[in-house]
Amino acid sequence: MRVLYVSTEVYPALKTGGLADVNAALPPAMIGLGADVRLLLPAFPALCDAAVRRERIVALGPAFGPGEVWVSRASLFGVPAYLIEAPQFYARAGTPYGDADGRDWPDNHLRFALLGWVAARFADGSVDDWRPDIVHGHDWHAGLAPAYLAARGGDRPASVFTLHNLAFQGHFPPSVFDSLGLPEGFFAMQGVEFHGSVNFMKAGLQFADRITTVSPTYAKEIQTPEFGFGMDGLLRSRTGALSGILNGVDRGIWGPAQDAHLAATYDAEDLSGKAKCKAALRAELGLNPNSTGPLLGAVSRLTEQKGLDMLLQALPKLVSGGAQLALLGTGEAAIAEAFAAAAARHPRQLAVRLGYDEGLAHRIIAGADVIAVPSRFEPCGLTQMYGLAYGTLPLVRRVGGLADTVRDADAEALAAGTATGFVFEEASADALGGALERIFTIWKSASGWAQLRSTAMRQDFGWTPAARRYLALYRELRSPAGRRTNPAV
Ligand code: ADP
Repeated sequence: MRVLYVSTEVYPALKTGGLADVNAALPPAMIGLGADVRLLLPAFPALCDAAVRRERIVALGPAFGPGEVWVSRASLFGVPAYLIEAPQFYARAGTPYGDADGRDWPDNHLRFALLGWVAARFADGSVDDWRPDIVHGHDWHAGLAPAYLAARGGDRPASVFTLHNLAFQGHFPPSVFDSLGLPEGFFAMQGVEFHGSVNFMKAGLQFADRITTVSPTYAKEIQTPEFGFGMDGLLRSRTGALSGILNGVDRGIWGPAQDAHLAATYDAEDLSGKAKCKAALRAELGLNPNSTGPLLGAVSRLTEQKGLDMLLQALPKLVSGGAQLALLGTGEAAIAEAFAAAAARHPRQLAVRLGYDEGLAHRIIAGADVIAVPSRFEPCGLTQMYGLAYGTLPLVRRVGGLADTVRDADAEALAAGTATGFVFEEASADALGGALERIFTIWKSASGWAQLRSTAMRQDFGWTPAARRYLALYRELRSPAGRRTNPAV
């Protein structure tokens, strides 16, 4: 099975969120099961630095403007990769998507059209004498790959499109359509057009043979107006082609038994290292070392999605209940400033670090007792799964992948010994506060807490089951009968 895996970021070279963790773990897991998976990525500077044995193999000529486009072959963390060498688009400081101040690059439509277009160029084997059976694109950046493949028609590779977050869609004004080189008929409701604009995510959802997302519950939610970001109608119409495959945890990177970022390692049999991690974290952040309440952690983008404004409103309850909080995040200034101001008022109970810090993220997830992920919506969520692996009980809202991975400590689950965390329903500070109160109650029982922690640490969200499911889906698509007929013609 030959798979071209099309995306933008890979941990540890380049990461803006969970997508980078997925891209680092899923391809090797599929390779481990015998598939020939190769990455296709823009040659961003950080990826070029990480690539080894990088050699240019084919010139594709100028595309989407002046300047040559080459494809290089390389190895990226042991995985075969193709890099699109187009310095006019990709050799820039900042993130893959915008400048250092977070402003989107004005030519993003061309930068990511090129990604999809090059993916489709692999269809006839002319890039490296290697023709994929499957072109698998991730998120809106790769959304045009299925559209360019559909435009080619004929005996093309099958296309799979995975959406990791429907909130980010790649909207552009209608005037950009002519620069994309797609057939005229594709600017239509059955194509890439969305309320008069060009929408890359919609292109992926419309043209891919199969659509996946990163948890079964999110796959259902996005077919409703509440979570569909305007795509719910389209997703309902494609319900037979849509499925949810839960992400996994790479225990080599996120496992307390060998995590090099920690003051001490530990496992479910011996948690003494976890106590050392907690003490070290408190010392690092200036938190009171003698506080007897639970230490909550949060490692997150500070956005409306992640619901940290609700945590902010619940801070008085957290402080009066004798708990502590260690928060690491980047994002919206208003949320960041409010957390920083609260920490300034209670420096021994609340510690806030604004910025991106991989090591501190690990130390918080290991050292805390509870990891807070109170998202309004959550396609899968990785931090709660990391929390489970580290015996750090998740405090989550019952949405998306959070609902699929955390079993609430209600009476029934406590009695059955299956509880792994604290789940609340409504997106409100009151509901979150109610969960906090339940945390305080169970915290008072050392044996009760230990039972939850031990169940949490036994959960196994590995990548192999996910990789198996993707390979099964690819196999279904091998026969042309599994393919979508072009909806735009
Ligand atoms: P999303 O991709 O929506 O941001 P996920 O839970 O899927 O959320 O993945 C988030 C990833 O980013 C996790 O690996 C988490 O540890 C990491 N992360 C988030 N914020 C920070 C930060 N400020 N510093 C370091 N790592 C972070």
